[in-house]
Amino acid sequence: MEIIDFDKKRKEKDKAKSKNNKVDELFLDKAVTLSEALPYIKKFAGEIFVIKFGGNAMGDDKIVEEFAKDIVLLKKIGINPIVVHGGGPQIGDMLSKLQIQSKFIDGLRVTDHETVNIVEMVLSGSINKDLVTKINKQGGLAVGLSGKDGNLIEAKKLRRTKKDENSNIEKILDLGFVGEPTQINPEVFIALDDSDIIPVIAPIGVGKNGETYNINADTVAGKIAEAVSACKLIMLTDVDGLMDKNGKLVSKVSDSEISVLTKKKVISGGMIPKTMTCVNAVENGVESAHILNGTIPHILLVEVFTETGAGTMIEAG
Ligand code: ADP
Ligand code: MG
Repeated sequence: MEIIDFDKKRKEKDKAKSKNNKVDELFLDKAVTLSEALPYIKKFAGEIFVIKFGGNAMGDDKIVEEFAKDIVLLKKIGINPIVVHGGGPQIGDMLSKLQIQSKFIDGLRVTDHETVNIVEMVLSGSINKDLVTKINKQGGLAVGLSGKDGNLIEAKKLRRTKKDENSNIEKILDLGFVGEPTQINPEVFIALDDSDIIPVIAPIGVGKNGETYNINADTVAGKIAEAVSACKLIMLTDVDGLMDKNGKLVSKVSDSEISVLTKKKVISGGMIPKTMTCVNAVENGVESAHILNGTIPHILLVEVFTETGAGTMIEAG
């Protein structure tokens, strides 16, 4: 594990800056930043980045607008972003607005037939189209798709079990129409290759009999990243990255360290599928996986265009 001393880096930078007072430092800083981005622009041109935008980070319109600008910028300099979005909080809001009561098992919502219809409406309807519109408003050419379009995400019911604490017997939990991908059919991305189009994906999968499955957006992003051999998988969430037991940001972590932290319950809740997905992705050909705080404007650019990077980077082995 590695923890970066940002204070030290800042002091070094201030010292270097104080040597120059002829040109306005603010503009000089900007020019230097742009110039420093050149090697990264060259390195990543033509590469695919799968970027997952979490439902929690998406709560604020201004943040979504800044995110949209970053995505358009990446596309304009030759990187091919594929955006996957979440929407947990927005689904919760809609269900309570419609006064649909949900059953929960171990804090997980049971998605019955009525609920999955609402889930699909919120994810592939309002959230997806809102994000598409915001990206297009910034000069991009986004196209919204769900896992049903082009048969992109084939899915089956997620099998989840829990050990009974008294008898130690594994029980199957029935969460309804919560799914996991069985196959990604990336033809639609291949067709969009070399085009200006930015795909924006809602995490909905289609079952063998045409049934609708709600899938964790992290899982969808990871599987798509593997299927298209993405260079980077980037998870934008509402925390700075993975935190250790003292609440300190971990800048680099390996898969074995993640399993230790999960066993010790330092990693819990939504961070479990997130870290697991990152591990699977880097073990299956994705060059690097990152967890960043999507509520910080332009954090994506810091990650892509600086040496330091931001948040947590997950490494294989
Ligand atoms: P998203 O909508 O981005 O998928 P989630 O709520 O699913 O967000 O997952 C991120 C959450 O995981 C954080 O807000 C935090 O509460 C929780 N979490 C659990 N363990 C950790 C950890 N070790 N480090 C950071 N966050 C953690
Ligand atoms: Mg989540």
